[in-house]
This record gives sequence, C-alpha cells and structure tokens, in this order.
Amino acid sequence: MSAAAGVTSLRAAAERTPLLLLGRRADPDSERGTTCPGTVPDPGDPALVERARAARAALGADVLVLGHHYQRDDVIRFADVRGDSFKLARDAAASGAGTIVFCGVHFMAETADILTDESTPVVLPDLAAGCSMADMADISQVEAAWDDLADAGCDAVVPLTYMNSSAAIKAFTGRHGGTVCTSSNAARAMAWALEQGDQVLFLPDQHLGRNTAVRDLGLSLGDCVVYDPRLPGGGVAPAALRAARVVLWKGHCSVHGTFTREHVDRVRERVPGVRVLAHPECRYEVVEAADEVGSTERIIAAVRAAPPGTRWAIGTELNLVGRLAQEHPEQQITYLNDTVCFCATMRRIDLPHLVWALEELVAGRVPNRIRVDADTAAWARVALDRMLALPG
Ligand code: SF4
Repeated sequence: MSAAAGVTSLRAAAERTPLLLLGRRADPDSERGTTCPGTVPDPGDPALVERARAARAALGADVLVLGHHYQRDDVIRFADVRGDSFKLARDAAASGAGTIVFCGVHFMAETADILTDESTPVVLPDLAAGCSMADMADISQVEAAWDDLADAGCDAVVPLTYMNSSAAIKAFTGRHGGTVCTSSNAARAMAWALEQGDQVLFLPDQHLGRNTAVRDLGLSLGDCVVYDPRLPGGGVAPAALRAARVVLWKGHCSVHGTFTREHVDRVRERVPGVRVLAHPECRYEVVEAADEVGSTERIIAAVRAAPPGTRWAIGTELNLVGRLAQEHPEQQITYLNDTVCFCATMRRIDLPHLVWALEELVAGRVPNRIRVDADTAAWARVALDRMLALPG
C-alpha cells in the first residue's frame, strides 16, 4: 500500500471509530484539560520561554512554583523547589507563599491544599494531569472493599494508603484509624499498622505494598492477597481474606509497572558491572533482582554519592533518569527499560499550560484551583499527622 493510501485508510478508520476523538471538545469529561478558560499558547510559540520568564518575574516571591522530579526539563527549569510529592507539599505549607503553582499531578496538588492555609490557592496548570495509579482506587470501591472485609470476618483491619491516592482515600484511612505512607517510610508505616491491628489493607499500589511486606517486614508472599475491586468480593475467598496479613489493592503505576525481570537480566548482560537501582513501585521480581531499591529522593542521593565511573541502570520515570544522566556525566547512567516510558499524565503539564497558568495569575485570576472540602481535608490531615508521628 502506498503512503498516501495508508493515510487515507487511517483517516477512513478514524471516521468510522465509535470512540470520541480527543482534541475536538466532544467529550468534556475525558478532555478536562483541553478546556482551560482563555487561551493556552501554541506549543510552537517561539516566545514561550520568554513569556514564562516574564510572568514568573511579575508574580514575584508571593507565588511558589513546585516541580516534581518527573517533570519535563522545560517546565522544571521554572520550579522554585524540586522534590517528591510529599516534600513538595510540605515545602508549600512551610513557604507561606500566597499562591502555589504545582507542576505535578492531581493528588499532589490535593495534598498541598490539605497542608496549606485555607486562603492559599493551589493551582494545577492542567486538570487532566491525574495519576493512573491513584485513579485505580475510587473511594466508593474502597468503601465496598471495607464492607467485604467486614463480611468476611476481618474485624481488626488497619487501612494504609500510599501518598499517591485521592484526598477522599486519605480521609478514609484517617476515619478508620489508619495512616498514609510514602515510598520512603512505607516499612515504618506498615509495621505500625500491624501493631494497631491484625491486618493491613494497603492502597492503591500492590507492588509497593508487597515489596514492603515481604522485603522489609519479612512476611511471606503467602501472607499477602490481592483484592481486585472489579470482582465480587475482590476475587478473594473470605477464608483467604481472613488468613492474610496484608490485603493488597490491585493497583499499580503505569510507568514503574513496565519494568520486568528480563530488563534486569538484559542490562546485566549488556553492561558489565552495572548496578541496578529500582523504585519500590516496581514489581517484586524486579526489586528482588536489583542491587538497590529506593524512593526518588533515595535514587537521586545514591547517584550523587557514587564514585565517578559507576554504571547504573535505573528503574524509574524517564525524565528523572535523563536529568540524572545529564547532571552526572562522570557516571554511566542508562534506563532500565529498553522502551521509552514517561509518566503520561505528568507530561500534561507542559510549557504552554505553565505559561497559561502564570499569565492568568498575573492578570489577577486564579486558574484551575484544586480544593479539598473541609471535612475530607480534616480527616486526611488526621491520617497525615499520624504518619508524621510514626516512630523513627
Ligand atoms: S509515575 Fe506512576 S505513580 Fe507517579 S504520577 Fe505517574 S502514574 Fe502516578
């Protein structure tokens, strides 16, 4: 088939498809971010960097721009502070800034809103910047799972949610005697939860939950069951739910879930002496085969501390790995996966949306404000405060 014929047939197929095509504003629910009020600049506008600089300068110190480590280079260059999700939310709360622009994803902006003063608007430059992992646990599904556990006779369950979850789920854990964890303190949080009750319901990342239970706390794989919210009773027999120490929610990160044991084996063949460094959101078999396992902050610290000439294969989001490679030319840094895998939702925050958000603020308007209602925020705060009080 000629190229022209191929294009024609693709176009014909697109016209026949029953799916709503993105970019035509036909489906506001799935195109939340494409309907920013006003005009989002054209990505090809050669003045974008200058516009971002000018708007940033006009806003001054009263506006704090936060950039998650997984952000694109052209966005993170405008961040006043870089970090992981919880560090950024805490920095937002401690800054006293009048407005926060959060270059991250939705649950991060929610956490910043919970931790900051009521009068401090938190702006997410594109509302379509969600998190596929957080979206795998909806509060109504979690409440149904809680009922399933009660029906199965599990009466001493403590809910523990990863930071990467909605404010509603953080509030749920606060209401039910549980807490929140990060990838840095998951072991302490799970150990605490198992002291408070007999079982833990770990949300929403099954891999972090399993890695923590088995690798850090010494439980067995058989002590964990996976609860699938799409199946009746989670797809787990009541007796198996009762026997489990850790009930893992069937969720995962669409970036870290792509790394496989084969990637580890292949890079070891290809790069003699390579050290494999994996994030704990990776699958159990990947972290078992890695040399080091750690959160984004720990990955950055490990690379900074390594001697020149160290060879790394890093299993985390590609923007961060690429930046580490640029910042540490004295080391040899490669990506663990052999295909490109950025966090697609984090990439929704691009330079045009950042410019749009900053220019709206310069004009005196607050765009895309993320608000958590007072009751949800109060209970989520209970869960977060329990996390901050965890024994060291
Ligand atoms: S990298 Fe994974 S967990 Fe992090 S924001 Fe993206 S989808 Fe969510």
